[in-house]
Amino acid sequence: MRLLRFEKLPTLTGLVHDRTVRVAVTGLSQSGKTAFITSLVYNLLSAAGRSARLPFLQAAAERRILAARALAPENGFPPQFPLEKIVAALVADPPHWPPSTTDLRRVRLSLRFCPSGLFGRWSPLGRVARSTAELAIDILDYPGEWLLDLPLLRQSYGEWSRAMFDLARHGVRAPLARDWLEFLARHPADSVGDTQTALLAHNLYRSFLAACRTREQLSLLQPGRFLNPGQLEDASVLWFCPLPLSAGGEARPGSLAALMEARFETYKRTVAQPFFSLLARDVDRQIVLVDVLRALNAGEEAFADQRLALDIILAAFQFGRRSLLRWLFGARIDRVLFAATKADHVPALQRDHLEALMANLVEAPTLRAKVAHARVAATALASIRCTEDGTDVIDGRKVDVVVGLPEGGERRIRFFPGIVPVRPPPSGFWGERFTEFPAFEPPRINPAPEDGIPHINLDKALNFLLEDALA
Ligand code: GDP
Repeated sequence: MRLLRFEKLPTLTGLVHDRTVRVAVTGLSQSGKTAFITSLVYNLLSAAGRSARLPFLQAAAERRILAARALAPENGFPPQFPLEKIVAALVADPPHWPPSTTDLRRVRLSLRFCPSGLFGRWSPLGRVARSTAELAIDILDYPGEWLLDLPLLRQSYGEWSRAMFDLARHGVRAPLARDWLEFLARHPADSVGDTQTALLAHNLYRSFLAACRTREQLSLLQPGRFLNPGQLEDASVLWFCPLPLSAGGEARPGSLAALMEARFETYKRTVAQPFFSLLARDVDRQIVLVDVLRALNAGEEAFADQRLALDIILAAFQFGRRSLLRWLFGARIDRVLFAATKADHVPALQRDHLEALMANLVEAPTLRAKVAHARVAATALASIRCTEDGTDVIDGRKVDVVVGLPEGGERRIRFFPGIVPVRPPPSGFWGERFTEFPAFEPPRINPAPEDGIPHINLDKALNFLLEDALA
């Protein structure tokens, strides 16, 4: 775990116990949110009275967690995280990966624990008070794509359109945008604002974004709800797309541009803003999961694109008073952890590299910030460890590998992933692409949570997020 920013803040908890800490988990699609939350809940439920699988969570290591239970959902919104369904997938024979996050979801836990320090069991005050404390952990799960909408709130439709056209006309995006751009060439911004034309243009733009994601593994795909809509009362609020507009020009009333602009503004007001208000109001701690290995695997442009998306996500959280989220919505998030996921695809030394790379990806913007009012850290973790470390001999040389069962396979394989760079790689690096990472079968878990779920560094992540709340 690398602490990137640390400022002496009054801790959220102070000396007050019996409280709630609200942890939000996000990351782009397939980054590992569902796996992370499942492992977090399962491992905390198994930690009562023992360090179990969480030796680096201080309260667990000191045997101060006395009881842990899942709490019933409070009301219908946000919907409950489907823990039982997910566990059913992991206890099946053979075990399989559960469906991923596509919407906002919430799960709540309660931990009864012995405070340490002044009110601890062994301190004079603690002995008099015989105190135990209760910590409710409210976990909010949401698609990271939604964070990519934050800059939209400060952009006009024209500004946003121009930025999207700049992106769409370059690099690997250009050939994928062809159908959408050809359609727009036949239906200029100034033509009559017909709702059917707007819908067709939207569908083509959406297909373009989907191709960017699936074929080229790109990340900076706006607006965030086009590929991850979640539950929307009125889907027609999405039926717009960027149009080629010149700077300074105004949309003629009744034109296609005017129709699109109106929908863009409605989207911002009725979809994006309420989500960011909820985040600002309901979150104290944030973990951002990043599938760095997949982006490395996909090549130079996918990696650069992931960095751009990360910069937007960083701007949302990072810089204390300068954070967009705080500035626009008064958010009070005071700890942010960036975690490179699926670290069980690489052996131990490479996991250190991965952590260093993750830290490097978020460090420069952190250091640029003059006023930080948050603790920011970076780590590499595997929420559900599917492999073991081993060695192999390649071309007469002994190399570190991971050993695991590929999904649907019959025999375990020894997988050599190559060397993970500790910094964002220079252009020359991309000549040799990484070997494609196999999807490994998850380990079969015990339906009762006593045994927890094998992981790498999940406990360190939890300690960063919860240490003061469990102090
Ligand atoms: P989400 O879209 O962010 O909710 O992502 P998921 O949690 O559903 O993870 C997407 C896929 O990544 C899973 O189906 C697994 O194949 C893989 N995955 C997630 N976490 C891990 C992990 O810790 N180790 C390994 N080997 N694979 C993982």
